[in-house]
Amino acid sequence: MTRLKIAIQKSGRLADKSLSLLERSGLTFARSKDKLFWYGRNLPVDLLLVRDDDIPRLLLEGVCQLGIVGENVALEKVLESRARRPDAHLEPLLKLEFGHCRLMLALPEDEAYADPGQLAGRRVATSYPHLTRQYLADNGVEADIVTLNGAVEIAPSLGTADAIVDLVSTGTTLRANHLKAVTEVLSSQAALYRCPAALDEPREALLAKLLTRIRGVQQAAETKYVMLHAPRARLAEISAILPGAESPTILSLEGQPDRVAVHAVCTEQVFWEHLEELKAAGASAVLVLPVEKMLA
Ligand code: ATP
Ligand code: ZN
Repeated sequence: MTRLKIAIQKSGRLADKSLSLLERSGLTFARSKDKLFWYGRNLPVDLLLVRDDDIPRLLLEGVCQLGIVGENVALEKVLESRARRPDAHLEPLLKLEFGHCRLMLALPEDEAYADPGQLAGRRVATSYPHLTRQYLADNGVEADIVTLNGAVEIAPSLGTADAIVDLVSTGTTLRANHLKAVTEVLSSQAALYRCPAALDEPREALLAKLLTRIRGVQQAAETKYVMLHAPRARLAEISAILPGAESPTILSLEGQPDRVAVHAVCTEQVFWEHLEELKAAGASAVLVLPVEKMLA
């Protein structure tokens, strides 16, 4: 039987958005409350709900064919597994525009920062030992890496580290621990990954179909359907303002020979600034509607 398995985070920061993306791509599952495995109902695509840290390994070992995980975790786990498989590699098929975060080097507030060189021979605490080692090596620095699975930010005040490399979003946690972020090690977001191994033809075809759908959902999220009335004489100017629109549909307006209705699919984000420019160019009755699905 030709089936694919997709691994997503069971609960946590990526869980809801991962599931929602798959559901908006038309997948439905026979949900089981506590179980790890949800059977795909309308397509032969099943879901595995796991800890995010397990997802890269499931892909590398070919247990799952697709997975949604943060780039930070994917890169860390790939580097980790290179001890056993030197050629381990995962390539994102699609960045998903959620789960944004930054892996940062942070120092005690009162230490001036010049460059990573000042960490040479000192202790750096992190949950990302492989990414940290690689970053330091890229900067020609060898430091003593202290691997911690949580509460990394308290290591300097406990005296077990001189600096940390940790995920930072607002910086509140750092400040509470008298630390300051000084430089970025990695910028990350959630991404869709596939297993490195080639699949048989039906499964490659199913994967390709799914990828097209997911891309469509991603694109539809930005895409808007814009409708407005415009002076016929300023059509070129107005079309040029519509972001990412190809050829708009022009419709005549009953009893108004000088004005037309313009309908356009805008594939780039439509901002208030665009609407203000349209109005300045003589547009009226401007409506911006969401697009639910797209098949380009
Ligand atoms: P699990 O139980 O699945 O191991 P976790 O505690 O490792 O969960 P979460 O805190 O849910 O993970 O974070 C999952 C991912 O969300 C991170 O690896 C990262 O890619 C992303 N992320 C986005 N913002 C942040 C943030 N502010 N802090 C930590 N991770 C973030
Ligand atoms: Zn985790």
